[in-house]
Amino acid sequence: MLTETLLTIINRNADGIVVIDEDGVIRFVNLAAAALFDKPPMALVGEFVAFPLGTGETVEIDLPRPDGNTIAVEIRVVEIDWIDGRAYLASLRDITERRQAQADIALRNRLIEASGSGIFITGVRGEARPIIYANPAMATITAYTEAELLAQDCRFLWHCNPDDAQNQALDQALIDGAPCTAVIECERADGAMYWAEVRLTPIRDAGSRQLTHFIGVLHDITDRMYLEAERIERERISVALEKERELRVLKDRFLTMMSHELRTPLSLIRLAHDMLRQYGDKATEEERLQYLDSIRTQTEHLTDILSDVMTVSRGDSAEAEFMPEIIDLITYCRDIVEQFQINYFKTHKVEFECDRAVMRAPIDRKLLRQALTNLLSNAIKYSPEGSTVRFTLTSNGHNGNQAIITIQDRGIGITEEDMARLFEPFHRGRNVETVPGTGLGLAIARQAVRAHSGTIAVDSAIGQGTTFTLTLPMVEVRARG
Ligand code: ATP
Ligand code: MG
Repeated sequence: MLTETLLTIINRNADGIVVIDEDGVIRFVNLAAAALFDKPPMALVGEFVAFPLGTGETVEIDLPRPDGNTIAVEIRVVEIDWIDGRAYLASLRDITERRQAQADIALRNRLIEASGSGIFITGVRGEARPIIYANPAMATITAYTEAELLAQDCRFLWHCNPDDAQNQALDQALIDGAPCTAVIECERADGAMYWAEVRLTPIRDAGSRQLTHFIGVLHDITDRMYLEAERIERERISVALEKERELRVLKDRFLTMMSHELRTPLSLIRLAHDMLRQYGDKATEEERLQYLDSIRTQTEHLTDILSDVMTVSRGDSAEAEFMPEIIDLITYCRDIVEQFQINYFKTHKVEFECDRAVMRAPIDRKLLRQALTNLLSNAIKYSPEGSTVRFTLTSNGHNGNQAIITIQDRGIGITEEDMARLFEPFHRGRNVETVPGTGLGLAIARQAVRAHSGTIAVDSAIGQGTTFTLTLPMVEVRARG
């Protein structure tokens, strides 16, 4: 008979223990075995065994459970001497979880084997990082056999470009035990080059945190790189074509402007010259002076056109040449408007309005004069005689740090189609008819306003008039009174 202590030990054993006699009848069952069969021990004693009895080997069987599931049990059988003769001792172990874990691992292994991405594992042996596993995709991508890969330090994959910064980043990560992702150019075993994205992940021992392995994932991104290179090239070509088209348009506009705007002053100069040459001796002193003045005026006009062309062709260099000084904007603007009132008092009424007492702003006098003069002369030349041009000056009341200038006329207005290109050099509105102009004034005005870190906007209605609005940063604003 089993002693009490021995029975306790056997019953506490996590493995199930069953003793079966030579007739296949169960003679003893411990608690763990009874739990596996889901029956009380006494219900099992005297039953015939329901599992194979091969001594000395280990077998696995599936035991059905009352809930419809099965559990996996590993059975190991040995012969023993029992109370009344020979018997079999079967130890039973629940291996359901182990089997599930093995199945999971097998599935993951199949996933790694089937993956189109190259996956490799390196060991850590001092400074060396030998490849200890490479999946089949690694062989496909690199053209090295699995055996060839396993004989190498993983750095051989990217060592055809040792000076490349990305390669060096991977090398450093392998030394530091740090994660790293890099896009690198590699050489296959057959000499062909390919682009790869390599991601290294360091693996450390859970307890000691000691670096033990690296997992490497390698994607062949050659196609993606070529597509990207093609896309960049296509974009470059389309930008270049667009630039070329813009230059062509600019050149056409420039030539149109030249043929229109240069012809008149040149023929006036020629006319004055011919008159002086042919009739100079018969002309009065006053007539001679008139011809000479005409030559001078037209020459100045040509010089102005040339100077405008030069200003626009310098482009944004206006910003580089920007030389501001803090001035009173009110006096400055009033002086400019007064000049227009004097010059055009016969044809237009030019009004000046300002509701502030002092407006101090950093202004480049020459640059802003160019802008305001052109806007005022546009307002006059594109509006009928007798109409009023209004120049208003105020400041932005909310934060008080912006000067706002508007120049408003009651003229021909600007078509919707011209609005978008209005500030481009040499662009002239389709409704200007015979009004002369180079199409440079607004381009120059915009350059000047931008140099002041300001803005210029336009609002217009055909046949009703146009308003240009400028904003300029100010130093301070003090309300009147
Ligand atoms: P420039 O000023 O060089 O002698 P321009 O006046 O034609 O020539 P911009 O001042 O650049 O050139 O103006 C471009 C175009 O914008 C003008 O040709 C005209 O069509 C349109 N425009 C500008 N200001 C007005 C305005 N106040 N009213 C109507 N159209 C305008
Ligand atoms: Mg103009």
